Amino acid sequence: MPDSSLFPLDIPTLAFSRGLMQIMLAGLLVYVGRRHEQGAGARLWAAGFLLNGISLFLFSITAHGIWDTVCVVGNHLALGAGSACLLLGFWAFGRQRAQPWLAALVVVIPLVALLAFEGAWPNARLRVLTTAFGQLVFLLALQASLRRPPRHEIEHIYRRLRVLALVYAAVLVWAYAVVANVLPTSSRLDIGYHLAIFSVASLLFMLSLAVTCLALQFALLAARNEDLAMVDWLTGLLNRRGFFRAIAHGDTGRADAERIGSVVVLDIDHFKRINDQHGHAAGDRVLQAVADRLRELASPSDLVARMGGEEFCVAMPGARREHAFARAEAILAHCRNTTVPAADGRAIRFTVSAGVCEASPTLSIDDALAQADAAMYAAKREGRDRAMAAHDLEHDARA
Ligand code: GH3
Ligand code: MG
Ligand code: MG
Repeated sequence: MPDSSLFPLDIPTLAFSRGLMQIMLAGLLVYVGRRHEQGAGARLWAAGFLLNGISLFLFSITAHGIWDTVCVVGNHLALGAGSACLLLGFWAFGRQRAQPWLAALVVVIPLVALLAFEGAWPNARLRVLTTAFGQLVFLLALQASLRRPPRHEIEHIYRRLRVLALVYAAVLVWAYAVVANVLPTSSRLDIGYHLAIFSVASLLFMLSLAVTCLALQFALLAARNEDLAMVDWLTGLLNRRGFFRAIAHGDTGRADAERIGSVVVLDIDHFKRINDQHGHAAGDRVLQAVADRLRELASPSDLVARMGGEEFCVAMPGARREHAFARAEAILAHCRNTTVPAADGRAIRFTVSAGVCEASPTLSIDDALAQADAAMYAAKREGRDRAMAAHDLEHDARA
């Protein structure tokens, strides 16, 4: 008998502890996934870890020779179902289309192993190898699902998890190559040694996977909260902070002055009167109506923001002054033709004034906004409900 004392480990006891840890981590995942609209992934992960934990409990009992058949069947079923839940969790988390046949495969492979090599043609080696093959399929599917992170903020976590899954898959193949007689055993390296190493690797992998799932859920939550901090709750447009962040991050996809193009600043005329005559709630509906008009007329690359109060801004990447001016006039005409119902059933009409400025390599976004603002105030002075270009103000001042 080869010597296995080189790496002595009581594998059933280790399996019991692994099971316990996974069930505790499943509890934590249920906690972070509960009552969260993006918690479906976390809840499926929790189910996966719970089932994996149960499978390990049953495995550790099998070693003691009690309820043999029940434990072996339960162990295989729970292992496959646990892996399927983990995969479904990653598909839900990554907002990817679930692949039911792949999930079914990781459930069916251990079952086939059981029916064929425990029932029909008893062969422990083939049973163990087939089950290990199921785990390999699971790891490869996991690896594939990690190719497309749902948000760039969690890309680094996905990258590390892919490496982790690959390393674990390599250890699995190495450990079971001995069982398959592909890798020879020696007096120093027997089957027990390989499987003990695999047990430890499995413990470390499942622990890291569960901790990573927790980290992913928290990272998604943090990214979502950051999004909310960039959006105006009343209109759903970017707020001032979101606007400047989008400009700084180049969300418009172009470079510098061309990226910003032209800016249009818009301000509702006599908005205080609307509030005074129809109430604050009606005022809010007017703000929403203006936001809707801006959204309708925006091109996909435009940045549309509510900068504060009743003031809005549209950055039009690549747009020359004339084009931006025409767009501003179209927005104004649209608003002029919009009515918003007041509480007493009357129709509220409103107008908007706008200032337009084209950015240039020598004009920062702050300067362009200040000039568009000045043009907007000039439009107010000229009688409101009109658009003015900063360029024309400069010419008038020079003349
Ligand atoms: P002007 O034509 O010169 O722009 O006059 P105005 O009345 O529109 O401008 P003013 O700055 O005097 O008043 C703006 C008003 O907008 C005052 C403020 O109470 C109101 N306001 C700011 N934020 C909100 C909001 O979120 N909801 C509502 N309903 N009113 C708001
Ligand atoms: Mg106003
Ligand atoms: Mg104002």
